[in-house]
Amino acid sequence: MQNMVILGATGSIGASTLSVISANPAAYRVYGLVANASVDKMLDLCVAHQPQIAHMVDKTAALALKALLPPALNIQVTSGEDELLDLVTSSKVDTVMAAIVGAAGLVPTLAAVRAGKRVLLANKEALVMSGELFIEATKASGATLLPVDSEHNAIFQCLPQEVQANLGRCDLAASGISHILLTGSGGPFLTSDLSSLAAMTPAQACKHPNWSMGPKISVDSATMMNKGLEFIEARWLFNTQAEQLKVVIHPQSVIHSMVQYKDGSVIAQMGNPDMRTPIAHCMAYPQRIHSGVEPLDFFKVGQLSFYEPDFERFPCLALAMEACAQGQEATTVLNAANEMAVDAFLQGQIGFTQIAQVNEACLAAIPKGAMTSIEDIIALDAQTRVYAREILAKIA
Ligand code: NAD
Ligand code: MG
Repeated sequence: MQNMVILGATGSIGASTLSVISANPAAYRVYGLVANASVDKMLDLCVAHQPQIAHMVDKTAALALKALLPPALNIQVTSGEDELLDLVTSSKVDTVMAAIVGAAGLVPTLAAVRAGKRVLLANKEALVMSGELFIEATKASGATLLPVDSEHNAIFQCLPQEVQANLGRCDLAASGISHILLTGSGGPFLTSDLSSLAAMTPAQACKHPNWSMGPKISVDSATMMNKGLEFIEARWLFNTQAEQLKVVIHPQSVIHSMVQYKDGSVIAQMGNPDMRTPIAHCMAYPQRIHSGVEPLDFFKVGQLSFYEPDFERFPCLALAMEACAQGQEATTVLNAANEMAVDAFLQGQIGFTQIAQVNEACLAAIPKGAMTSIEDIIALDAQTRVYAREILAKIA
C-alpha cells in the first residue's frame, strides 16, 4: 500500500491521478490532497477519497472547507507554508504527485525530493527553474524521480534500464543513443493562417485538438512554449547535449516521443492521448497497473504524420531553445515571464502573439547572475515578474 499526496489535486492531472488511484484501491491510498483555493472541488474530492489531510494554500478557502466538511469524515484541514512542507515530507507519505501548475510548485516539489520521496513529476516548471539544483537534490537524497509529462514518460519508457536508474546523470551516448525525438502536436494553431494568430482568443487557444488540460498548459501548447519548456525539462532529466535533442511535430499525438539509437533503431511509445497512462506508469513502475485508458485502435488512427517545427509560427519554441542553450538563469527568467504573459492573455489584457513579445523582452533585459541556491532562483523569478508587469502595463 502506497500512501500518496497529490499537489494540485483539483486540477486536470490531479483528477487523472485520483482516477488511477480509484481503479487500484488495494495498492494506493490518498493520504493528502493539496490545492490553491477551489473549495467546492476540494470538498467533493475529500468526500470521495477521504484523505487524512486536506491542505488549501488560500487561508480563507481552508476555513470555508473546514466549515463544509462533515465532521464524521475526520479530515484535518491545514493551510500555511510550514504545514504544506510537513505534509509532503511526512514519514507516512511514500509518493508525491507534483501537479501544481507553474513556479508555485517548486518549493513543495523540491521538499518532497529532499525528503527522499518517490516523486511523480508533472510540474515541469519546477525543473525548468531549478534544473541542476533539482537533479543534485535528487541525487543527494536518493529520491526516486519519475516523469509524468507524457513525452518524458514516453522517452523514459524507451530508454535502457541503466539510463532509467540514473536520471539527470545518465550518459546517453554511452548507452548507444544518438537522439531523443520530442514530439508535439503543434496545438490548435498548427495550420491557421499566420495573419490570424494575433486575434486568437483564450477560448480558441485552450481548445487543444487532442488533449484536455488546464488553461496555462493549454495556452503553452498553442504557442508551443509547452514544447520549449519540455525541451528544457528533457535537457535536465536525460542530461542531453543540445544536438541530442530534436523536436518533431506529430499532429495526431499517438506517438508520445521516441529514442533513436546509433544502430538506426528508433523506439517509440504510443497510446491514446490520456494522461492516466503516464500517471499509472509512474505510480506502478517498474510494474504495470490498469489505468482505465482505452487501448489504442490503429485502424481508427489510420495515419501518422510528421513535420519540422516552424519557428516563425512558434517564436516561443525558439526562445525556449535559446534560453536552454544560455543556461539555468535564462530558463528561470523565461518561465516567469511566460507565466505572467499567459496569465495576462487569459485575462484578456494582451493578444496571443504578444505572449512571445513579453517573453523575448524579459529574456533580453534581465541580468542573469549565477544562481547557487533555491533562494537565488526565487529572487530571479520575482525580479522577472516585476519587469514583466512593467512591460504588460505598457503594451496592454
Ligand atoms: P490545472 O490548472 O488543471 O490545475 C492546477 C492545480 O494547481 C490546481 O489543483 C490548483 O489548485 C493548483 N494550484 C494553482 N496555483 C497554486 C498555488 N499557488 N499553490 C498551490 N497549488 C496551486 O493544471 P494541470 O493541467 O493539471 O497542470 C498541472 C501541472 O502539470 C502543470 O505544471 C502542467 O504543465 C503539468 N502537466 C499537465 C498535463 C495535462 O495534461 N494537464 C500534462 C503534462 C504536464
Ligand atoms: Mg507534455
